[in-house]
Amino acid sequence: MVDLHSQYLHVKHLIDSALQSVIDTSSFINGDEVTVFKTKLQNFTGAKHVIPCANGTDALQIALMALELHPGDEVIIPAFTYVATAEVIALLKLTPVVVDVCSDTYNLNPDLLEAAISAKTKAIMPVHLFGQSADMEPIMEIARKYNLFVIEDNAQSIGAVYTFSDGSKKQTGTMGHIGCTSFFPSKNLGCYGDGGAIFTNDDQLGSKIQMIANHGQNKKYYHKYIGVNSRLDTLQAAILNVKIDKLNEYNIAREQAAGKYDNAFAGIAGLKIPRRRTNSTHVFHQYTLQIADNKREDLMNYLAEKGVPSMIYYPLPVHEQEAFKSVTRISGSVDNAEKLCKSVLSLPMHTELTPDIEDYIIESVKSFF
Ligand SMILES: *Cc1c(COP(=O)(O)O)cnc(C)c1O
Repeated sequence: MVDLHSQYLHVKHLIDSALQSVIDTSSFINGDEVTVFKTKLQNFTGAKHVIPCANGTDALQIALMALELHPGDEVIIPAFTYVATAEVIALLKLTPVVVDVCSDTYNLNPDLLEAAISAKTKAIMPVHLFGQSADMEPIMEIARKYNLFVIEDNAQSIGAVYTFSDGSKKQTGTMGHIGCTSFFPSKNLGCYGDGGAIFTNDDQLGSKIQMIANHGQNKKYYHKYIGVNSRLDTLQAAILNVKIDKLNEYNIAREQAAGKYDNAFAGIAGLKIPRRRTNSTHVFHQYTLQIADNKREDLMNYLAEKGVPSMIYYPLPVHEQEAFKSVTRISGSVDNAEKLCKSVLSLPMHTELTPDIEDYIIESVKSFF
């Protein structure tokens, strides 16, 4: 599905020397590379404050912790997402409320938000799934109207740009009160282990999040909040400093591969290509098709025989996961999420797809249909 080794070989000289220099200084925690990365990420995203942390799940948890919510408060999320989005909510004894997604973009449907809001609703967590921005303008309007926080789960879409109706543009992760991302190796900006970051343009939230990620302190051994220990290793920051300079190039490579898939698959009956919104760029963390008529498993097996990997992201919606059944509130119909879980199939998508590989994957899919 991804080829991290080939990607490494292209930047080997830069990565190797960056790692060696961290080892030479032995400044493994909060070394200079972490500060450098913070600044690079601020410049890249346009976020005022960037707080690096240990992984994307921590980023989401710390973001929620900064909002001082109370047990039983509700947080609205899309029913179709990676479990981490719901997990941190439930872990803090808050209630995840799932709403349906759009059947073609896979992202939260803003038209269903108002009906999901109750007296307990405190926040909305849109997920920019598979590389494309959720429709943030209506989401922010509803959040303002009901005085709700918005935390963006931007683990899959770093570098995607959303255009508002007045023509202004913002990167995903910088439109809500807080944005969160992950540097898991296979993410669009991935390190060689775990890593994450939190974004905010709010000074108060910024300093609070910084403290929560560091045991709730800003002065050593004086703890203002109950926090966590969540840091980005210096070695991981050194790797990210090399890779962030290539991120635009990497995202373009993904977009081009997706364009080739789109062209090849657009006319095939029984298969639906992902829709691109006109008000968001798409950085294709995943290239995700919908397979009609319960043929998904047959196609997966057929592709596997030809040596083409494929994956189901995700086989169950949040509210059907065993751990979340009893703690989730379902708002309205979540039909699209349930149908997508039965029909989606993601094809290999990464920065090292060559024309030969792409052609082979395309021919393999076409020959099945
Ligand atoms: C990867 C991912 C996360 C979690 O990131 P980790 O770094 O693996 O903890 C959260 N949300 C979404 C949508 C993700 O894809």
